[in-house]
Amino acid sequence: MNDTILYIVVPCYNEEKVLPITAPMFLGEINTLVEAGKISPDSRVLFVNDGSKDKTWEIIQSLSKEDPHYIGICQSRNRGHQNAVLAGLMEAKDHCDITISIDCDGQDDISAMEQMVDEYHGGCEVVYGVRSRRDTDTFFKRFTAESFYHLLKWMGGEVVFNHADYRLISNRVLQELANFKEVNIFLRGMVPLVGFKSTSVYYARTERLAGESHYPLKKMLMLAFDGITSLSVKPIRLITSLGLIVAALSFLGILWAVIGSFLGNTVSGWASTTCILCFLGGIQLLSLGIIGEYVGKIYLETKARPRYIISERTYDIPEEARQKEPALSEK
Ligand code: UDP
Ligand code: MG
Repeated sequence: MNDTILYIVVPCYNEEKVLPITAPMFLGEINTLVEAGKISPDSRVLFVNDGSKDKTWEIIQSLSKEDPHYIGICQSRNRGHQNAVLAGLMEAKDHCDITISIDCDGQDDISAMEQMVDEYHGGCEVVYGVRSRRDTDTFFKRFTAESFYHLLKWMGGEVVFNHADYRLISNRVLQELANFKEVNIFLRGMVPLVGFKSTSVYYARTERLAGESHYPLKKMLMLAFDGITSLSVKPIRLITSLGLIVAALSFLGILWAVIGSFLGNTVSGWASTTCILCFLGGIQLLSLGIIGEYVGKIYLETKARPRYIISERTYDIPEEARQKEPALSEK
């Protein structure tokens, strides 16, 4: 028998339709892996209810009564996917040897877990699940998602192409990840920063088994913007370069204006003046906006508010552990 304890961390937000379908699939995978002697029978499926407004938490509670392998924690309110995954990982880190985070909608191939666990036994501390195909995504989703990875890379963020949040993380890496105290979290960029030996396994992404996506274009754009500004200061550098170019052009403009005035043809020029004014005004506002975004992030970071608050659990934890929780936000 293997004594590697696996926690499958599953963030859930308004997933009453799909949870009853996918929960047994997660448990089935745990049983398969236990039978294959790859993980311990003490492994668990840990659901993180991200402040759902439907019956998701009730479903998780009844699942946990049905089978001890199902456990759940409940966030005090909706905080978003990244915070929910982090809450689950931090909850799991003191109880297990490895975690695998996965969405609860069945889009990511659950059977890829076996390969992930094999890679862990082969010495890897982080195993990224990478989508080999995106056939089932619409052209628009595929295009925006892939452009996002390219843009992030170009901006200096180190991310694994076509990898979302389906990944295996060992306890050792989790302990180090716990020291990354930032409040603006973008796990896809943070995990590669922790380092350690890593690899990827490939799987085909399918359609949601039920329910609807919670990531409309607006949320996707926000995630992309957050990802870039959390991982890199390249946008600010670009502003500096842009500033240099505009300053050089302005210098030429000044020369042109002075020479023009000496030659006596300065009356015409309303159009050029207006264009220059609009151009400079636009660029300045844009630059201020981007810099402001970073200032805003600093503002949020200095507050150091807790990144998640767990209001309920389907199981009891010792009193000391409960008191340790706020330490997460201490700097
Ligand atoms: N999710 C969450 N909090 C949110 C939004 C989503 O925990 O505020 C969870 C959701 O339940 C799912 C995962 O994050 O397990 C991914 O969401 P979804 O499938 O809607 O996104 P998509 O796959 O369409 O990008
Ligand atoms: Mg999904």
